[in-house]
Amino acid sequence: MTKPSPRNFLNKPDDNIAIRLSGLSKTYKAQGLSTPKNALKDINLEIPTGCIFGLLGPNGAGKSTLINILAGTVIKSAGSVTVWGENLDKNPRQCRANIGIVPQELNIDVFLTPYEALEFTAGMYNIPRKERLTKEILEIVGLTEQSHAYARTLSGGMKRRMLVAKAMVHSPPILILDEPTAGVDVALRQKLWENVRSLNDAGVTIVLTTHYLEEAEELCDHVAILNRGEVIVSKTKSDLLKSSGRKDLSVTIPQDQQQNPLPDSIKSLNPIATPNGFTIRFNPEQTNSGEILKEISKAGVQIIDVSTYQPDLEDIFLDITS
Ligand code: ADP
Ligand code: MG
Repeated sequence: MTKPSPRNFLNKPDDNIAIRLSGLSKTYKAQGLSTPKNALKDINLEIPTGCIFGLLGPNGAGKSTLINILAGTVIKSAGSVTVWGENLDKNPRQCRANIGIVPQELNIDVFLTPYEALEFTAGMYNIPRKERLTKEILEIVGLTEQSHAYARTLSGGMKRRMLVAKAMVHSPPILILDEPTAGVDVALRQKLWENVRSLNDAGVTIVLTTHYLEEAEELCDHVAILNRGEVIVSKTKSDLLKSSGRKDLSVTIPQDQQQNPLPDSIKSLNPIATPNGFTIRFNPEQTNSGEILKEISKAGVQIIDVSTYQPDLEDIFLDITS
């Protein structure tokens, strides 16, 4: 596969941080709002270069506000923003040149072909013809065959890939996708994920917002959870999954024992009754399934079957935001 131009990837910021937000706050004080709305409260966040970073959060958490500040369509109230080593207040143009934004809405000129749309966008960025990467970009997003088809004949998924292509025209080292697969069906979602992955393999730092936790679990190596304008947690996905602090051990016991009260030593483990036995929820940093099973045997309870369950991103998300 052809890689995007290394033009902007060559000089990585010294600290290997693609985006740094320090004390970032946004208060909307629009007329008609009875009280000002604190959409972002003292956000501190570091997005490393080269990662696929997922910004998760329920509706109204502040995800779009954060992205719109980066895009330059919302003015921050306080704090500082650094993009690829450039300060947003001192160097807004260079900051923006370092980012490509894929908006959520499918706002596409249906009378242009993908090829024409990319050439037009390149013209807006004053990219000389010789340096344009139109064909390469169309290949990366899998639209080579449709290069000269009118956009109105493209499927929803193809239109979205066309938006990704447009955001790549100026070869930004960072690509930001706001809810990239909202309203896209499952098969096309997989295709889009492949595109995102191959862009990342080519060196592009990816930031995406999503409310599909499955998407974050599948794609992202770093995850931040935003709730009511605050960053609740920001970790690598594997650390986040490990740090949930709970694991469930479910035990099936013989039918004739299911009616009997459990021995006190098991009651002290706070069992949750299930149709065939009980579940013990424990902190994997403090004990393990083996120890708990030993306790159960010691108490004279016969074990027919066991299973364990480790929370996924969705469980953790619900624990944190509810
Ligand atoms: P998300 O993208 O996570 O759903 P938003 O950033 O869109 O969240 O919104 C965060 C909060 O800020 C919400 O309470 C929303 O109502 C409010 N908000 C967003 N945009 C504006 C605006 N232009 N004026 C006033 N309040 C706004
Ligand atoms: Mg939003």
